[in-house]
Amino acid sequence: MWKWLVKVARFVCSRCRLTVSLLPQFVLPYRHRLVDAVDRYFRAGHEARVEMSDGDLLRRYWRQWVSHVGSLQRDTAWPAERPLAREPIGYWEQMAKAAGNMQAVQKKLTGRFGVSLLRRYACHRKPERVIC
Ligand SMILES: [Zn+2]
Repeated sequence: MWKWLVKVARFVCSRCRLTVSLLPQFVLPYRHRLVDAVDRYFRAGHEARVEMSDGDLLRRYWRQWVSHVGSLQRDTAWPAERPLAREPIGYWEQMAKAAGNMQAVQKKLTGRFGVSLLRRYACHRKPERVIC
């Protein structure tokens, strides 16, 4: 298994001391697997999933995805293609097709909608008020 060290650019506002981290689009926040690894697992059939060495972790990610799909569709109404797929893997593939790949999906979700692929984090929300 590959081990990666990802350097994350962090910026601190000199006026309000708010810290902002800039993650590359191939990284999921607070996750130990890259977007492409999650994508491979999600698209794999049952037998291939069982063979994957980090299947337990990725199976947990799958369950988080399944529980996140409804709110993601409700909150973003993205992509514009209709109808939005009802099955979690169908929606995953629909988003990948719309954006080109899952890294582009992750970038779009966080940048445009303030939500990540597997969960909404407080850190992706824009501040309710501008402090400075
Ligand atoms: Zn500031």
